[in-house]
Amino acid sequence: MWILYLEQYKNPLVFILAIGAIVSAMTGHMVDAIAIAVIILINTGISFWQERKAQKGMEALKEMAAPQAEVLRDSAWMMIPAKELVPGDIIKINTGDILPADVRILEAHQLAVDEAALTGESEPVTKSVDTIIEKDVALGDQKNMAFMTTMVTTGTGLGAVTATGMQTEVGHIAEMMNQTPPTKSPMQVRMDNLAHLLLIVGLGIVALVCGVGFYHGMPLLDILNTGISLSVAAIPEGLPTVVMIVLTMGSTRMAQNNALAKQLSAIESLGSVTVICSDKTGTLTQNQMQVVKAYDTTNHFWNVTGKGFEPKGEFVADGHENRLEYASSLKQGLLVSALCSDAKVVEQEGKLVVQGSPTEGAIVVAAAKAGFVKDNLLSDGGYQIIKKFPFDSTRKMASAIVKTPNGDHFLAVKGAPDVLLTKASSFQTSSTIADMTSSQFDNAKDGFESAIERFATQALRTIAVGFKPLSANQLDLESNDLEQDFCLTSLFGIIDPPRPEVKDAIEQCYRAGVRTVMITGDHAATAEAIAKDIGIIRRPEHKVVTGTQLDHMDDRQLRSICPSVAVFARVTPEHKLRIVQAQQENQEVASMTGDGVNDAPALKRADIGVAMGITGTSVAKDSGDMILLDDNFSTIVKAVRQGRQIFDNLRKFMRQALTANVAEVSVILFAFLAMGPETILPLTPLMILWVNLVSDGLPALALGMEPEEDDLMERKPRKRNEPFFSDGLGLRIVTRGLALGALSYLSFAMALNNGYSAEYAQTVAFLVLIFAQLWHLFDSRTFTTLYRKNPFTNKYLLGAIVLSGSLSLSVVYTSLGQFVFGTEALALNHLGYIVMASGALIFLLSAVKELTKTKLL
Ligand code: ADP
Ligand code: MG
Repeated sequence: MWILYLEQYKNPLVFILAIGAIVSAMTGHMVDAIAIAVIILINTGISFWQERKAQKGMEALKEMAAPQAEVLRDSAWMMIPAKELVPGDIIKINTGDILPADVRILEAHQLAVDEAALTGESEPVTKSVDTIIEKDVALGDQKNMAFMTTMVTTGTGLGAVTATGMQTEVGHIAEMMNQTPPTKSPMQVRMDNLAHLLLIVGLGIVALVCGVGFYHGMPLLDILNTGISLSVAAIPEGLPTVVMIVLTMGSTRMAQNNALAKQLSAIESLGSVTVICSDKTGTLTQNQMQVVKAYDTTNHFWNVTGKGFEPKGEFVADGHENRLEYASSLKQGLLVSALCSDAKVVEQEGKLVVQGSPTEGAIVVAAAKAGFVKDNLLSDGGYQIIKKFPFDSTRKMASAIVKTPNGDHFLAVKGAPDVLLTKASSFQTSSTIADMTSSQFDNAKDGFESAIERFATQALRTIAVGFKPLSANQLDLESNDLEQDFCLTSLFGIIDPPRPEVKDAIEQCYRAGVRTVMITGDHAATAEAIAKDIGIIRRPEHKVVTGTQLDHMDDRQLRSICPSVAVFARVTPEHKLRIVQAQQENQEVASMTGDGVNDAPALKRADIGVAMGITGTSVAKDSGDMILLDDNFSTIVKAVRQGRQIFDNLRKFMRQALTANVAEVSVILFAFLAMGPETILPLTPLMILWVNLVSDGLPALALGMEPEEDDLMERKPRKRNEPFFSDGLGLRIVTRGLALGALSYLSFAMALNNGYSAEYAQTVAFLVLIFAQLWHLFDSRTFTTLYRKNPFTNKYLLGAIVLSGSLSLSVVYTSLGQFVFGTEALALNHLGYIVMASGALIFLLSAVKELTKTKLL
């Protein structure tokens, strides 16, 4: 904290002010010297407090994004922050994890780890539990170990933590542990540049003013102090910090709404997003899946009754008389699907929940309704699982090698029906098998195809189930070799209703000029039915494109159809990258969601990579710019909305702060231009410093809390490279600033002409400037005019105005204030005139703006 505080003194302005204080002290102006010193203290105090607040906000956000690990403690699996792991802990390892510690592998299913970062080996390394006898084995050959920061590309397993933190292999390579410095958002960089530019312009003006003062023969000390105060007024030293605060305050509010921006730059891009590419399952839909329909390869349809994850319900024949007891292919299908699923339904806090993938959960529940429960099959039924090939979105299937009670082996498989169909060589028709040579084969195939179509057009997610007998010499084969020539038995239709709030969110996007595109591994017809339901497909020309069609397009073709594609179906994660690129080449600002390892490149490439907070892997979270804590599409839309609002508020804040700066500088400039033989300046140096405190201080900051504009989600997104000061903002700052400065100078001149003392006239100029600024806040806070905005909607702003106004009055009406600032108490009717005149100016300017719609004001 001390270091942070002391760092506030590393500011050129503090040096300039310090020189002023020293010179004043040496020339016997002790009051000025002390006052400047106090102002330095206040200034550094404020900027310290601001930076501390911003830092705390960032830390809290970082904490939320910190990696987690699933660990066995007190005989129960629980999620804990990865940094709390200790050697000896047993952790679960899943596809997509970034390992949180060095571990000895205790269990491995298809476990492969990308160790490129550590060993330079680019191919994933397969891990096993086998003992390694040799000593001094190179890291890359330690197959029964896995190392911190490496990435699990496939499979699952268990590991015992052997080392954490700096004791890990990667910890030994110390520089790899160094955190990458937080990158500044493009806007922050632009702000820094702007601050530099203004610094140069400001110093130029100061030099000019000092030159003119010198020419007029002003006392050197006055020139120096005025120059110093002016540079303080002209240089917006506080801008970068305040920008940072407004952004952090914004991202804290976003996090409360479940959107965790990992980098402040994300907020800026959010405001200009033009297309949101979103996963369907779980993001647009509820992920509360349930099998409601079934089809078996004897050409029979079934309805499945029951509610939720309760394993109670029946298979009711649909349009035929068959009963489940006699439906051997359906029963076989349910048995097989129970065996190749990993999900479990467990009771948590009195509610049944699925552990594992919701799709599998639905299948597991359906199988249980027919009496097939994996745990029972394994313990009492004599079945044994030899090897598992978990589901991945590229293969679109999951399988397991099963040993039956009588010692035979078969491959149990379930997956996307059209994919399985291309690899099927037979169908189970009642108790016989119809292979390709059979006359029934074509019939069974046609029946299966039309069943897929039928389920899909009902917006059902479809899963086909099959098996394949294995001989003993096939047991060691890998999934690519095993997963073909299936015998299909049945097909299941799963409902996954859309989230209720999604339809509204998509409608909002549409009005805000943001397109929503659905990306899914699901069947085209299923996706289309849902997309129509929730308003993603709105017109006949909105297309559905499948992964296979995508593969046949080159990048140029893809780019040309992209604007009219509403749904990409049956795509693999690899397609996502191409889709993002195509959108970006079309000058879109694209957001893309993802959860798996393979989504990482697309997440990185997207302008806003959105990683799923619940289902997302560490790799995805690591690559995304934003983490969606509730996996909900409407949260992305809320974030876009907030991104726009934060950006708006920054513009409002900038307008207020910079207008004040222009006004302060121009009062002095006008005075110099009109300067006769008398060299009385309208503001004393300390007054300038005070005005500066007020203008960059609380009221401007309160603009960061402005409620949103009415048309926030009705206007088009900001262009990618639209300048910050677009839409006349820059011009407005200059004209309004000059007007405020002119009023202040004219009031000063009038007071002098009417025979008042210099101190009295200066106090007039001072208060005009203060009040004009406070009035101006009411116009700065809207992009329309103050006439259209209820003045009481931002209580922070009102509070800040009251506080700043009364503090400024105390500068004028207390003897301490008068002593330090050289002010004089004004007659109350004069104060009344000042308040009204400064208000009248603002109302007049806004009236002109309202009537002429000019961008000048
Ligand atoms: P999305 O997440 O977009 O719905 P997925 O890649 O998860 O797409 O699923 C694509 C298809 O793969 C699904 O339509 C379904 O047929 C099949 N599928 C999904 N999950 C599983 C699973 N656990 N086991 C077998 N097949 C699955
Ligand atoms: Mg999925």
